[in-house]
Amino acid sequence: MDRILISACLLGRPVRYDGAGKRLDDPRLERWQAEGRLVPVCPELMGDLSVPRPAAEIVGGSGADVLAGRARVVTVTGEDVTAAFVAGAEAALEYARRSGCVYALLIDRSPSCGSLSIYDGSFSGRRLEGAGVTAALLAAHGIGVFADHDIDRLAKIVDVGLLREPDAG
Ligand code: SF4
Repeated sequence: MDRILISACLLGRPVRYDGAGKRLDDPRLERWQAEGRLVPVCPELMGDLSVPRPAAEIVGGSGADVLAGRARVVTVTGEDVTAAFVAGAEAALEYARRSGCVYALLIDRSPSCGSLSIYDGSFSGRRLEGAGVTAALLAAHGIGVFADHDIDRLAKIVDVGLLREPDAG
């Protein structure tokens, strides 16, 4: 059975920077949880950050750039938290591998979990295309990463097995 790493806040766990969760109400999540597919993780807590914590954004690029040493993660108060974000991403990858996760469903726009878009580092609400640090690391190691608003596509793969069909287009 394919297991799915999932942002813990999507299950309502209060791990976000502001101390809240961001539950995704979707019957497929409930079913996948009952089937034992879901592996909740919060990379930022795994990187030893606390709840609550100052909001952070990637400055100078995307998560891949952070992993390559070309960009930093900085809080709204100006603290460089790059090392914690990279440590959290590595811990999440290790946990995903140990747990047998093939896919990840991650909340978009987070500097860790964003997979399609992230904020641009100006703390002004502007977004750019790109992935956060954890999403980039997972994808680079062959885990199929999906944004929360892209759950339909993940469900087609998990529940219908589209990617596993040899002649799937
Ligand atoms: Fe949610 Fe990911 Fe941010 Fe943790 S790091 S609070 S799981 S979006």
